[in-house]
Amino acid sequence: MDTTQKFTSPAYEFSLLRIDLIYAAALFVVAAVVISYAISYAPVDSVMVDPPLMGFFLVFCLFTIAVGFPHPSFGHVSFDRVAQVSAVLVLGPLDAALVMGLASFLYPWHRLRKGVSPGSVLAAVFHNAGLMTLLTYGCGSLYVGLGGVVPLGTLDWHAVKYLLVLAVTMQFVNDLGMSFIYFIRGGGFHSMVTLFTTGIELGSTVIAVLVAIVYVRLEPSIFILLLLILGAGMLFLKRFSDMRFRLEALVDYRTRQLRQKSRELQQQATHDTLTGLFNRRYADEYLKQQLSYARRHDVEFTVALADVDHFKRINDRFSHAAGDEVLRRIADLLSERCRNSDMIARYGGEEFLICFPSTDKKMATQICMELRAAVEAADWSSIVDDLQVTLSFGLASTDSDSRRTTILSAADEQLYRAKDEGRNRVAA
Ligand code: GH3
Ligand code: MG
Ligand code: MG
Repeated sequence: MDTTQKFTSPAYEFSLLRIDLIYAAALFVVAAVVISYAISYAPVDSVMVDPPLMGFFLVFCLFTIAVGFPHPSFGHVSFDRVAQVSAVLVLGPLDAALVMGLASFLYPWHRLRKGVSPGSVLAAVFHNAGLMTLLTYGCGSLYVGLGGVVPLGTLDWHAVKYLLVLAVTMQFVNDLGMSFIYFIRGGGFHSMVTLFTTGIELGSTVIAVLVAIVYVRLEPSIFILLLLILGAGMLFLKRFSDMRFRLEALVDYRTRQLRQKSRELQQQATHDTLTGLFNRRYADEYLKQQLSYARRHDVEFTVALADVDHFKRINDRFSHAAGDEVLRRIADLLSERCRNSDMIARYGGEEFLICFPSTDKKMATQICMELRAAVEAADWSSIVDDLQVTLSFGLASTDSDSRRTTILSAADEQLYRAKDEGRNRVAA
């Protein structure tokens, strides 16, 4: 079965989105019910006291949501905490919840133009508006219920105490709500909360308090000046974090490239490009180490040199390309039949070196006879009709001498003997 089909089928996508949408819509409905209930019980003059002021906070909230910064796992984190807290401190929890909820409801629609699917946009609309409304109203009511002042005009020890409660509960509810939707989308719970974003959001609360106090105590011109400076600061911070994430991504990318390159170089330094077997340089180093190991632990170590019989004729009669294909096929046959602990290298043009660690000559001879038979019996007609390929083997082991050059020349001598005696045989 084609597994890619399973993961891209419309049914699969729909079911994932449905959990998302159901949760977001449920959150939205709960928020709407809570707010309607609160409005119906609130004193008439405490709801929508000042429409121009609410309009201002609506725009302010839209701005602080828009100047977000990219988050490594969640995509986007905004500075909306500034608007949330200052709205609670100036308007009170109910009006603030209405305005903030409306802004969060309006904002995500622009993603439709970026090509985000309507289902995802709807989920974002419901989730953000629901969470923002509940967050602002719930935490704001707690602040007022404990004795926090609205509108906040002075900052004494009592005010700071209640403001701390407001900041911490908002942070907690926000992280919980965001983590939960991230969790049902398939991310982990841990991925949403980071020191960086939490720090920025808690820092935003301090700025929000400043905004509220300046609004209540000072002239409108100073308030507007403060907002302009604040807006510029947010834009700057956004640029800074954009840059930071871009840099991190770039460093990541370059590191991966370097690792890949170094793996390739390592492969090239130790392997033969035609057959994929180890190359002569690697084989010599390997032999040196294995022979010293065999000497120290007094175990027998056997090597075999295998040479293609009349390979020149194959090249001459068919083609160099056919010859190459024969070498590749022999390499595959040897690799398939040798044990994982054996080392096979292409030692020369049409010559292979096979090392058998902790193996005596008798055992290695047995393996080489099987290899010889397998090569002879293989179906070579798929390369060219009429092709016959055989190998001759010469073996030597550490029972006579354990120096690299000596063992190799001993194997070479045996190989000559195999050739002399008529080829397609194993000499040990
Ligand atoms: P023998 O049975 O005595 O080993 O005869 P032979 O023809 O196999 O031996 P010889 O040493 O005369 O020829 C080896 C040939 O292998 C010569 C060379 O052109 C060819 N050869 C070496 N490397 C390659 C390669 O990478 N690809 C191909 N197609 N041929 C190669
Ligand atoms: Mg040769
Ligand atoms: Mg040969």
